[in-house]
Amino acid sequence: MAATRSTSADLLHDTALVSATAPGRHLLLVTDGNVAPLYRERVEAVFEGRALHTVVLPPGEQEKTLARHAELMTALSRLGASRDACVLALGGGVVGDLAGFAAATWMRGVRFVQLPTTLLAMVDSSVGGKTAVDLPEGKNLVGAFHQPAAVIADTTTLDTLPERELRAGLAEVVKYGALGDADFFDWIESNAAALLSRDAHALSEAIARSVRHKAAIVARDEHEGGERALLNLGHSFAHAIEAEQGFGGMVHGEAVAVGMVLAGRLSERLGLAPAAPADRLAALLQRLGLPTALPEDLEAPALLGRMRLDKKNLSGRLRLILWRDIGRAIIVPDVDEDQVLATLASSG
Ligand code: ADP
Ligand code: ZN
Repeated sequence: MAATRSTSADLLHDTALVSATAPGRHLLLVTDGNVAPLYRERVEAVFEGRALHTVVLPPGEQEKTLARHAELMTALSRLGASRDACVLALGGGVVGDLAGFAAATWMRGVRFVQLPTTLLAMVDSSVGGKTAVDLPEGKNLVGAFHQPAAVIADTTTLDTLPERELRAGLAEVVKYGALGDADFFDWIESNAAALLSRDAHALSEAIARSVRHKAAIVARDEHEGGERALLNLGHSFAHAIEAEQGFGGMVHGEAVAVGMVLAGRLSERLGLAPAAPADRLAALLQRLGLPTALPEDLEAPALLGRMRLDKKNLSGRLRLILWRDIGRAIIVPDVDEDQVLATLASSG
């Protein structure tokens, strides 16, 4: 399952490296309207002379739909793409999830290459082979496991990333410390200013350590029979927030920041953990410019209703990732809904 993975500056300029990832006859490049003006030509130049078609989607999670998936299927048929086609995703997690699902489903699966351009995609969504689209009912409800053949993370592309998206990516970096590595959490606390100022060394180290964590967990549990669920710390809450806002409110990383704090507060309420770790987590996220409380217009019962549809639940019971302390996340199989409601109601 292991993809070839390269992370460094200026990789998109390495023609030999990029072209070697996609040997097939037909190439579909998927990107979005913000990324295309910045990096599309560079990638297209690599494949000059080959049968490449580019689809430019409007940016944003609202586009991760079955309708857009159908559009990519049509683009592949128009290309005359066969089993040796390759789909390339140039952009953030939204583009990666959608293009990956297209690669997973075209003729039951063709080669997929990720060219992540957001911090979030570099540290999280490009690793591990999850692909999906959303339904109005909930996030990532339709999808497949489909490993990329290669991931090329050109860290120079982070220079153009909007501040808000950089911060959102940092939420997922904090997640790795919070769920399983207290030393990494300490490191992020000490390097928060450097990360926010896009110090290249700090960002490289954060990416490398995050990817190592994710890859190790995925290698032990690719299809999420157990341990991989820990990577969803904060995510049941986050997905409920995103769906409740119609995928047009908080960006994913922001919702994860709120969700992790809620998981910490719920752990405290259930007597699994003291208050101090959740306080420390909230303080770090705030320093990173991330939200730590629910937006006022969201109702606790509606959020709980969304959480009942989460993929991690088993036999109608709420299964959540909670913790005992920073670096010690646990899977809790049957969480009392009243305690969840109380936690949601007291946020903000
Ligand atoms: P994520 O990776 O956070 O899941 P998206 O794929 O939605 O999310 O990307 C976040 C936003 O950042 C989108 O609006 C996208 O167009 C934009 N974007 C992605 N990469 C870059 C980049 N390198 N420079 C500028 N904007 C970018
Ligand atoms: Zn996430």
